[in-house]
Amino acid sequence: MTRAAAEFVAGTIRPEIRALGAYPVAKADGMIKLDAMENPFSLPEAVRSKLAEALTSVPINRYPDGGAEALKESLRTALAVPSDLGLIVGNGSDELIQLVVSAVAKPGASLLVPEPSFVMYRLCSLYAGLRYVSVPLKPTFALDMDAMRAAIERERPSLVFLAYPNNPTGNLWPAAEIEEILRLAPGLVVVDEAYHAYADASFLSRVGAMPNLMVVRTLSKIGMAGLRLGYGVATPEWTTELNKLRPPYNVNALTQAAVPILLSETALYADQVAKIKAERFRLNEVLASMPGIETYPSETNFVLARFPDATHTYAHLKAAGILVKNMHGSHPLLENCLRITVGSSMEMDALIEALQTIR
Ligand SMILES: *Cc1c(COP(=O)(O)O)cnc(C)c1O
Repeated sequence: MTRAAAEFVAGTIRPEIRALGAYPVAKADGMIKLDAMENPFSLPEAVRSKLAEALTSVPINRYPDGGAEALKESLRTALAVPSDLGLIVGNGSDELIQLVVSAVAKPGASLLVPEPSFVMYRLCSLYAGLRYVSVPLKPTFALDMDAMRAAIERERPSLVFLAYPNNPTGNLWPAAEIEEILRLAPGLVVVDEAYHAYADASFLSRVGAMPNLMVVRTLSKIGMAGLRLGYGVATPEWTTELNKLRPPYNVNALTQAAVPILLSETALYADQVAKIKAERFRLNEVLASMPGIETYPSETNFVLARFPDATHTYAHLKAAGILVKNMHGSHPLLENCLRITVGSSMEMDALIEALQTIR
């Protein structure tokens, strides 16, 4: 008698993996896509041409440069990362998060995360079998520092993730609180600056001075989500170890060729960020003026808002061709919350109109 694949799977794949659903990516064909913090602007024709020309000469029959040296050089220049600091690149910052988690996973170790925060922290912890410890934020989404101190003391976490600004709440915790966590933590503290372009704060300049700090960023939220590039900056002691876990060719040749060209378009991206910040301000104002809607300050390219019935509003927007993220049910503090990516002014007009016709 032959055993069915399901039986092999049941006896082979870990139960906690089998219990997971696949990461949900909503279908968005033809919709106004405001669910994934993408930049709404397509590239200008002139930049497309430059890119096209550079990409035609990439030798895609060869493996990419495993060390991504030219790419890293252009990142160092663009971000003024000193040469005595370590730099590691990943296939999106998701990959770097996964690398860091698997590097510290050992029996008894733990990962500490204030919640609600970025879901990949929890997922990567589960993939690697690293014990996950969450500390609820306050209802205002501020850090509960007493609870954080107590958890650090009790758990002695190998790793702490702090999204700065935080996703999905959009706020920026006080730098002094992050610094205190860095001082108290016995292990690595990753400050995840996925939204740094939309915030007026960063820990990048403190990396050399704080021995257990790693800053992780991504190019996704400023307009290069399709290229999949994340990077981490820490002292070389950390990046040397993490590089040992990195798949040798994790950043593909087309991305390595494209990113330096796009990074040189500083005025273009600065202009897009300014437009998105202006739309964020407008969206927040409009939402705050609508009866029954509670808004939260955002230092990102999304706005979190609480509705009388988020699931109803979500469905209404979807019927109007607008896709947002329904956070209801994902965490007790996010009851009836929707996370809305800030798009172009036309997209925001459509969103506002749809919200005004809701009943
Ligand atoms: C979007 C996001 C990431 C992942 O970005 P990728 O580089 O696209 O994998 C990481 N951290 C936070 C907080 C995010 O919101």
